[in-house]
Amino acid sequence: MPDHAWTGDAGAGDAWADDEADAADVRHVQPYDAVKTYRCPECDHEIRPGEGHEVVVPRADPEARRHWHSGCWRRVSARNTGGARRKRR
Ligand SMILES: [Zn+2]
Repeated sequence: MPDHAWTGDAGAGDAWADDEADAADVRHVQPYDAVKTYRCPECDHEIRPGEGHEVVVPRADPEARRHWHSGCWRRVSARNTGGARRKRR
């Protein structure tokens, strides 16, 4: 199980890539690329074909990718990045 298998696109404009680099790669799926129905792990509702959303690929396990509503992902990632390190007071 080589864990460097996911090389992606060298992560050029990916703001997510600094502190939380251990977590996951996130890609936005355009509405025209969304051709299947997925289930969002956050709200447990469907993501319909034609709906733009996010694909989250854990770096440690690229096979375990998940599709999220963009809004749900934003909420969860804000919770993660905001809570743990950045806003330590
Ligand atoms: Zn959702």
